[in-house]
Amino acid sequence: MLKIDNLHVSVAGKEILKGLSLELQPGQVHAIMGPNGAGKSTLGNVLAGREGYEVTAGTVTFNGQDLLALEPEERAATGVFLAFQYPVEIPGVNNTYFLRTALNAQRKARGESELDSMQFLKRVREKLAVLHLKDDLLNRGVNEGFSGGEKKRNEIFQMAVLEPKLAILDETDSGLDIDALKNVAEGVNALRSPDRAFLIITHYQRLLDYIRPDVVHVLADGRIVETGGPELALELEQHGYAWIKERIAPEA
Ligand code: ADP
Ligand code: MG
Ligand code: MG
Repeated sequence: MLKIDNLHVSVAGKEILKGLSLELQPGQVHAIMGPNGAGKSTLGNVLAGREGYEVTAGTVTFNGQDLLALEPEERAATGVFLAFQYPVEIPGVNNTYFLRTALNAQRKARGESELDSMQFLKRVREKLAVLHLKDDLLNRGVNEGFSGGEKKRNEIFQMAVLEPKLAILDETDSGLDIDALKNVAEGVNALRSPDRAFLIITHYQRLLDYIRPDVVHVLADGRIVETGGPELALELEQHGYAWIKERIAPEA
């Protein structure tokens, strides 16, 4: 489904990703762990097509398509979702209206019919039920005055409604309390399906206490330096990242 081959990415003229390769199959959950500054968020951002990330070498294909050639909206339409893609507050714009607009833009780009308000409401109800969410966030302004936990819940809800093929979640290292983490984890677990893959980016092991990944990768100094099963995350938790330094190949 997702194939990253020898990816090199520079930010502001500095090489951050230095030959990263990774393959994800439908239905799988892969975790990317690694020390601060390793390039984890850079990877998420470059996959989503954010500005400011220059790909200097390598390829990324998504279901056989050259992902890097697509605009961010086109990537979203092909089914790539980066959580925290819509963390902006848009006061006065109804959360549900915003999401319906986003969903219909994606459907249109795929050549599918737009959902009318009844159909959309049906999908919203269905997702709220799957995620065991209340409807209290629906009629507020987009992220307007949302707490950290509410923003997280809303992101998971957005993800559920948009039904991506590949969901990338970046825990962003800080600020998530245990309830917010559990929200994320429960959402991911509820949305796991044979045709959907997840790339979970996290500095800490704690999120993986609630989401059992199929594969764990360690990203350090812009490369994957270790790949293993869920036990690798526990090993990292016990031993920290210091041992990783020995794995980092000297600069060519
Ligand atoms: P991680 O998420 O693993 O902590 P990041 O991908 O956020 O790492 O950052 C990797 C490196 O790239 C860091 O050294 C960081 O300072 C640098 N970096 C990331 N984004 C930018 C940016 N927009 N401008 C300059 N440097 C950046
Ligand atoms: Mg960081
Ligand atoms: Mg980060």
